[in-house]
Amino acid sequence: MPKTNFRGNEFSALGLNSAYSSKYTRIWQILRDAGAPDFRHRQIFKAIFQDRITRFSDMVALPKPLRLKLATEFGDEILSLKRVATKESEQAEKTLYALPSGERVEAVSLKFQAGWESFCISSQSGCGFGCTFCATGKLGLLRNMTADEITDQLLDFHFHGRTIDSVSFMGMGEALSNVHTFDALRLMTHPALFALSPRRITVSTIGIVPQMERLASDFPQVNLTLSLHTPFNEQRTEMMPISRKYPIPMLMEALDRHVRETRRKTYIAYVLIRGVNDTRDHAKALAKLINARFQNGRLLHVSLITFNEIASAPGSFARSKNSSARLFQNILLQNNVKTTIRASFGNDIDAACGQLSANYASS
Ligand code: SF4
Repeated sequence: MPKTNFRGNEFSALGLNSAYSSKYTRIWQILRDAGAPDFRHRQIFKAIFQDRITRFSDMVALPKPLRLKLATEFGDEILSLKRVATKESEQAEKTLYALPSGERVEAVSLKFQAGWESFCISSQSGCGFGCTFCATGKLGLLRNMTADEITDQLLDFHFHGRTIDSVSFMGMGEALSNVHTFDALRLMTHPALFALSPRRITVSTIGIVPQMERLASDFPQVNLTLSLHTPFNEQRTEMMPISRKYPIPMLMEALDRHVRETRRKTYIAYVLIRGVNDTRDHAKALAKLINARFQNGRLLHVSLITFNEIASAPGSFARSKNSSARLFQNILLQNNVKTTIRASFGNDIDAACGQLSANYASS
């Protein structure tokens, strides 16, 4: 991670929901209350984010009483979640974590041939939105993750020697329905902590319109992906009950506002499911929907994703044939819609990003 460039007074301007919503702000508070000099903050964050020191007791640059105080306050381990299991394939690695209260979440790292690594993280344990094609939704919402728990997934990979090139909120949960996601974004982009460029972060949503607006205003450089999955509102309401509250026309207007405000390329995720949403009619209607948007949808990009049959519990859904996926893509391209078929890594280990499995109800 980039070199720590931090001053205590800068940290106080972090802007988290409350001074105690993150261990990093609590560390700052503890040191301030103890009258510790500013350089102690820098030592601690350097130890975590540059030297990859995982325990307070190993921060030998700190006086012993301070190490003990921090360990008493937080426990000796910096991480609040624990690795339970990992599964690896050539290009993907799935890690299952236990939260302190016992619920399970998972994160996936995807290795690209160009040499960079992308991390797909969770924001909730389970999910309450009940999308019919999604295994996580079958669990219901167990709980929101805190900002520390969300970012600890990245910190764990960092402690295992990995470089965090890019991050997407496409694991378990609907990121924009968890208010702590915004605090997590502050931690991830803070120069003293993860120091990630907001342009390397993508938030994926099923379309929680007010929070899409907040994202554009608070983090205009963070990428937004809207999971649409069908251009027909009636069908979307069957597949994704959120469409009752935020129907497709409202989502499209929100996308227009997002593009106008941020001037950034904005993504539409579309999981292709055989015979459900992969027909010519769907492709044509999707193209029409996009062409009718702000600047003819010039800044909208459709990511076509192959459905992960392993991860998704409902047996009635199947992956589109390759020929259908190509035809679907060609219809979009012929209608001037920018689109790619996303390489689907990790299906063999049940780790397709955006459709993480929820098989741990019994684990
Ligand atoms: Fe929740 Fe996303 Fe699954 Fe829908 S697709 S149930 S929002 S995790």
